[in-house]
Amino acid sequence: MSATFADLKNQPDVQSALSGIDARQQQMVDTVLAWSRVNSGSRNLGGLDEMERLILDAFKVLSPEVELIDLDDGEAVNEAGEVVTVKNGRTIRLFKRPTANRKVLMTGHTDTVFALDHKFQEPVWLDDNTINGPGVADMKGGIIVILNALMAFEETALAQNVGWEILLSPDEETGSLASAKILAERAKAADIGLTYEPALADGTLAGARKGSGNYTLVVRGKAAHAGREFFNGRNAVVALSSMITALASLTGEREDMTVNPAVIKGGVAPNVVPDMAWCRFNVRLKEPEHAEYFERKVREIVAAWDGVDRYTVTLHGGINRPPKALSDANIMLMEAIKACGAELGIKVDYVPTGGCCEGNNLAAAGLPNVDTLGVRGGMIHSADEFVCVDSFKERAKLSALILMAFASGQLDDVVKAKGRDA
Ligand SMILES: [Zn+2]
Repeated sequence: MSATFADLKNQPDVQSALSGIDARQQQMVDTVLAWSRVNSGSRNLGGLDEMERLILDAFKVLSPEVELIDLDDGEAVNEAGEVVTVKNGRTIRLFKRPTANRKVLMTGHTDTVFALDHKFQEPVWLDDNTINGPGVADMKGGIIVILNALMAFEETALAQNVGWEILLSPDEETGSLASAKILAERAKAADIGLTYEPALADGTLAGARKGSGNYTLVVRGKAAHAGREFFNGRNAVVALSSMITALASLTGEREDMTVNPAVIKGGVAPNVVPDMAWCRFNVRLKEPEHAEYFERKVREIVAAWDGVDRYTVTLHGGINRPPKALSDANIMLMEAIKACGAELGIKVDYVPTGGCCEGNNLAAAGLPNVDTLGVRGGMIHSADEFVCVDSFKERAKLSALILMAFASGQLDDVVKAKGRDA
């Protein structure tokens, strides 16, 4: 018979570890201010290096083993419709006691959506409890929650029962294309996953998540003078428009599936038949079968034009975040975390969302996970991004108690259910 969450919280070493988090509140706030000032847009490799240095320094206190993983180059389609190489930063992998029986994978990202030339670069206080700044919630704040939860955990004897591993990716905001492989591989080696995207400002966490894919469709036709040789031309804008209409009509073809043609470009001047046009589009969907259906329909749309009438069509991209449906084990983990929250007076509720994150990748690899265990905040991906400052200690204590519950065997039924789901 295992102890209850309440018994756990009343153990003297647990109590002292949790109050240690309260004592570090100011330190957590100072750290997020300093980290927010470092630009780490996904393409700013210098800034990502600086974040790596700061993080390795901050996490030294845990004496982890450290591995820095170079990511493969990626591909992108530029404004001219050409495929170009994209350089990625490094994934930071920190781990301790890799041979322990119980293993937890904690994930986050060092990048933000704000490029070096974005106007939003400095944190400012909005009121006593609110900081507005790049990455304060998404998710430099979350990395600080990981650190402080583990510092508390490591103060207790329970820590000996758990091998923990942290993965911090440099490319989450561009879809984790390069780090997906590592996330999947490390997810398979763990029993539970904890991811540190921000919770909503009221503390609500994300439950099920839709899957998402980003694509670029490039159509090439033939240029001609619009007056003298109109019929020698092949109008890429007309062909692309027809394909976009077909793509958009897939919205609703499966429950809650949406297709968003979002950016288009093509043509040079009104008197020239355009020989190139492209469109970037996004799909959101709920079920793995819907992803198969969507990909088949897109291939059909491409095939209807490619090679026909001297048009060529190329499709780039794909579904990079599979849908996160909730397995039995995942639901049990969510319930256990809710119970941990209740012990600390933190109300934990979950809502399904159309947004997606690394939690999608972990779930697709079979790892039950809760992915919004970071700070409370909001307006992320905008210059109004904010963090609720009191959530640092609150969320660090929540994660510390989750780790302690895991260590004391109180999540063993989740791990068993994971085995059955597999
Ligand atoms: Zn994020």
